This record gives sequence, structure tokens and C-alpha cells, in this order.
Amino acid sequence: MSLNAESTAFRSALEVIRAVEPRVADAIGAELADQRESLKLIASENYASPATLLAMGNWFSDKYAEGTVGRRFYAGCQNVDTVEALAAEHAKELFGAAHAYVQPHSGIDANLVAFWAILADRVESPALKKAQVRQVNDLTEADWFALRRELGNQRMLGMSLDAGGHLTHGFRPNISGKMFDQRSYGTDPTTGLIDYDKVAEAAREFKPLILVAGYSAYPRKVNFRIMREIADSVGATFMVDMAHFAGLVAGKVFTGDFDPVPHAHIVTTTTHKSLRGPRGGMVLCGPELAGQVDRGCPMVLGGPLPHVMAAKAVALAEARRPDFAGYAQRIVDNSQALAEGLLRRGAKLVTGGTDNHLVLIDVSGYGLTGRQAEQALLDSGIVTNRNAVPQDPNGAWYTSGIRIGTPALTTRGLGTAEMDQTAELIHTVLTQTTSGESKAKYVLDPALADKVSKQASDLLTTFPLYPAVDLG
Ligand code: PLP
Repeated sequence: MSLNAESTAFRSALEVIRAVEPRVADAIGAELADQRESLKLIASENYASPATLLAMGNWFSDKYAEGTVGRRFYAGCQNVDTVEALAAEHAKELFGAAHAYVQPHSGIDANLVAFWAILADRVESPALKKAQVRQVNDLTEADWFALRRELGNQRMLGMSLDAGGHLTHGFRPNISGKMFDQRSYGTDPTTGLIDYDKVAEAAREFKPLILVAGYSAYPRKVNFRIMREIADSVGATFMVDMAHFAGLVAGKVFTGDFDPVPHAHIVTTTTHKSLRGPRGGMVLCGPELAGQVDRGCPMVLGGPLPHVMAAKAVALAEARRPDFAGYAQRIVDNSQALAEGLLRRGAKLVTGGTDNHLVLIDVSGYGLTGRQAEQALLDSGIVTNRNAVPQDPNGAWYTSGIRIGTPALTTRGLGTAEMDQTAELIHTVLTQTTSGESKAKYVLDPALADKVSKQASDLLTTFPLYPAVDLG
């Protein structure tokens, strides 16, 4: 696609929007300007391609399409069928999955679909069996009572939040921690790594229905073959949430024991993090769970978003191109270069390094909370997010960690040399910031923050974001 086509497309779109509500057009333009200027190190963010972005802004948004391809509750879904089938086909080919469900609106929604599918599949209830054959009207009050009892109090074993798991993996205040009788596994206090023997022990004791692997803030690979053996040893369904590292699986950086798809009964993901697609979710599974998964909407989800499914099809087609593997490898090379740069300058990293796209800095070594460090870095043009570290004394709100990740900067083209410069900027800010009178307050010389901001934006000038998009 030529430079002119992209610029023309976005300029025209803004012109049309501006004619109705200029403040929205201005905000969209300002967002691009902000993203161009900031050193984005948020591990869960990326920059989708212009083709992916443009696929979302159209009349597919107007269409209701409850149901699945070829079996809709609404008429006139032939074009939605085309894009949904394409997205699913690309996903299956890309990940080597038997079945792909591309309707979830987000990662959390994908997890809810998976939980329901596992429950519905595993609970041996005559009442549920009836429901599955769509005889819901035939269920008696007693049937419903039995069903509710059987669906409730099922057990989930997932990674704890402070060890890097996600809220939806059984964190008590989350719906997953309320729906399920929940227990979590952590990491080894010395190494920071998952101790598979401890996971096996917890599984033997707790006998979960679902064993969940996957993470938001664990900087290492997970051996899914071992996790599956643990699940099998207690008859659990093994679910992997690969939201963060789907791009590394797609790009064949994580293969063999580290590729979840051949090992898990069910895999969920977001499409907008390292996979670099539109904001959304997806579920992959074998034929056994496919029927239940496809009931996601309207069982758990609102109506599908056909415009986002169109964008998923575009992004997944991009991820199937040979150059995506190079991108995925560069994400990890950059992450390791960033970790090495920080370690060389004296930072303390959870697990001592990384083998994926993210690095978790324990900022207590600088005498700061995560909240203070996050804000000081933001003042200096470096966008990160605070994150708990294992056994975090500052809890999930203030935290003692800063999570940084490389998918976005790698998309912009920054390489390992720039990661070392980035490590220097982070180190400068963190060593020059001091704790204030509360866990949120801090002291950083504004002149230094401005200087680092300028250095951060200088670093980015050779790597323009959306170089072919000129909004004029
Ligand atoms: N699963 C994991 C592992 C995540 O890290 C996240 C988001 O950060 C989600 C699920 C939720 O994704 P979403 O925000 O799209 O619902």
C-alpha cells in the first residue's frame, strides 16, 4: 500500500468525523501525536497495522450476527460469515489449532467463554445434558437447582496475581475467584521461577477441575508439556491463557514444550498485545470443546463485533506472513537486551532476566514504590505500568514493580542498541527519583524529567510511528 493511500484514508476519515464532532477528530489526531512521541514500554500494548485499523471503521459495525458462521439468529449475515470464517481459518492455520472461535470482545471475555465451555462439558448433570440439546424449556425447578449446585463450587488452580497471573485466573475479587473454589500456585521465592513440583503437589491436594497456565507479568517461558502432565495426573482440564505471548507462539519463538496449543485442552488469547491485531479475544480448542465454545454468544458474550472480526482476519493474515517470525524474535532479542542493560546498571529484576517479551523491575532497590516509579518515568516520557512483584509488600495498588515490554517499540523498528539506551534512560530516572511523604508521592527534578523526555523523543525520531500516515 502506498504512502498516499494510507494518508488519504486517515485524512478523509478525520475530515468526515470533524464535520460532525470536531473534538473527536481532534482527540484521534492527538492520540496519534502522543503515541508517536512517547517511548511505549507497556508490555500489553502494540501498534496495529493501518490495514487492521482501517478494517474496523466501517458498516460491519452496524450488523447483528449472533450465532456462528452459517447458523445465525439474524438474516443477512453472509458477509459477516465471510470475515468470521476467514479470521477463524487464519487462526487455525497460524496456531495449528483444530478449532478457533474469534468472537470474544476481549481477553477476559475469551476466558469467560472457556470457563463456561469447560464447566458445561465437564459437569455430568442430566439437567445440563438436557440444556445442551436446547431443551431448556423442559427443565424442571429441581433440574435447575441440581444444575446450579453442580456448576457452583467447581475448583480452579491458577497462577497467583503477585507471581504474574491474571485477575481472571482465580483472583479472589474477580468473578473467576467468586465463581470458582479457587487456589493459586506461586513462584519459588529464591529463583522467582515456577516450581512445577509445587504445582503438581497443589494439584494433587486440591484436585481442580481447571488448571490454568499463562500470565500477565511472568518474564519466563512456561513448560506446557509438564503442566499438561500435571493436569492429566488429577483429571483436570488444562487451559492456557496466552494473551501476552500469542505473538511469540505465532512467530514460532515458543515451540515444542513452550507452545501451548498442542498441550492445552483449550487456549485463550487477546489479539491486541504481542499478536499486534485489533483489540479483542479468541479461543482455540480441539473438537471436544468446540461445540460448547461456539455457544459463547449469547451464553456469555454480547453480540459479535463483525468489524473487529474483519480486523482480526487482516491481522492474522499478517501474522502468517514469513516476516512475522522475524518480528517475534526481535521482540525477545530486544527484551533481553533491555534486561541486560538494566542489570549492568544495577537494577534488580524478578527472575534475574527474561526469555519473553517482558521484564519486571523490582524498584524497591531504588527505594521507590511501583506507583512512584511509574509516575516519575511518565514525567520523563517513558510509558510503563506498575506491577506487583512476588510477595509484594506494597500490594496490588502501589506495588514494588515496574513491568516493561518490547512488542510496541519493536514494531517501530527499535533494536538492541536502542534498548541499551532505553535502559540508561530508565536507570537515570529511577536513580534520580526519591520517595515522597506517601507511597504515591515522589521527588524528581523537573529539569531532569524534561531532559530525559527529550532524549526519549530523540531516540524515536529515526523510528517514526506509522511513517506512511501524514495527517497534514
Ligand atoms: N489474560 C491475560 C493474561 C492478560 O494479561 C489480560 C490483559 O491484560 C487479559 C487476559 C484481559 O484482556 P482484555 O483486557 O482484552 O480483557
